[in-house]
Amino acid sequence: TEELLQKSEKLAVVGELAAGLAHEIRNPLTTLKGFTQLIEYEQGRANREYIRLMLSELDRIEMITNEFMAVAKPQAVKYQEEDLISLVKQTVNFYIPQTLLKNIHINEDYNTKYSRIICDGNQLKQVFINLIKNAIEAMPKGGSLYISVQNTETNYLQVKIRDTGVGVSKEILPRLGEPFYTLKEKGTGLGLMVSYRIIESHQGTIQFESVENEGTTVIITLPILKPMLVK
Ligand code: ADP
Ligand code: MG
Repeated sequence: TEELLQKSEKLAVVGELAAGLAHEIRNPLTTLKGFTQLIEYEQGRANREYIRLMLSELDRIEMITNEFMAVAKPQAVKYQEEDLISLVKQTVNFYIPQTLLKNIHINEDYNTKYSRIICDGNQLKQVFINLIKNAIEAMPKGGSLYISVQNTETNYLQVKIRDTGVGVSKEILPRLGEPFYTLKEKGTGLGLMVSYRIIESHQGTIQFESVENEGTTVIITLPILKPMLVK
C-alpha cells in the first residue's frame, strides 16, 4: 500500500506541473519546427542529414508534449451512465485491422449480469486503447489477445486484457506506470501513467500480472452503477 500511495502522490504532482510545462514548451516548439521546415525547403540539399535529425527530434518533443497535454489539461470530464462492454468492444473493433496484419488472434468473453457504470466514456476508452496498444506491441511475432469483462462477487466490474507477448520481469513490474518509464525505442512511457490516473479518478484499480516471455494480464476493477445512486 505504501508503494501505491507514493505512486498516486507522484501522479498528483506530475499532473499539476505537466499542463503548464507542456503548454510553455509547445509554443517555442512550433516556431522551431516551422523554421526548420523552412530551412529544409530552402537549402535542404546542403545539410539534409542534420535537418532530418532536427526534425525527428522536434517530432519527438511534440509527441510527448501533446500526449502530456491530453492528460494533464483539465478537460471537461463528463460522467454519465455507460455500458462498459460496449466501450470495450468499440476499442477492440478499432484495433481489428492491426491485429489481422500482425497475426494476433482476438478472444472476447463478455459474461456479466450488469455492465453499466457511471464514467467518462472517452477517458475509459483511452485506457483500453493504451492497454490494448501495449498488448499488441508486446507481440511483434503475433499471438493471442484475450479480452474479458466480468462481474466480481462484490459490486465491481473487471476488465481483463491478457496477451501472450514478451512480458516483464518481477523487477520491472512495480515500475509500470511511472512517468516516462519505457522500454521501447519509440515509447513515451506515458500510456500507463495516464491509465492509472483515469482509473483512480473512477475509484477503480489497475493490477498487472506478468511472466517474462509468456505474457501479461492487466486487470481493471471498476465499481458498478449502484441503482440507488442513479438520479
Ligand atoms: P510506452 O508504451 O510508450 O513505452 P507505457 O506507459 O504504455 O509506455 O508502458 C510502459 C512500459 O511498460 C512499456 O515500455 C513496456 O516495457 C511495459 N509494458 C506495458 N504493457 C506491457 C505488456 N502488455 N507487455 C509487456 N510489457 C508491457
Ligand atoms: Mg504504451
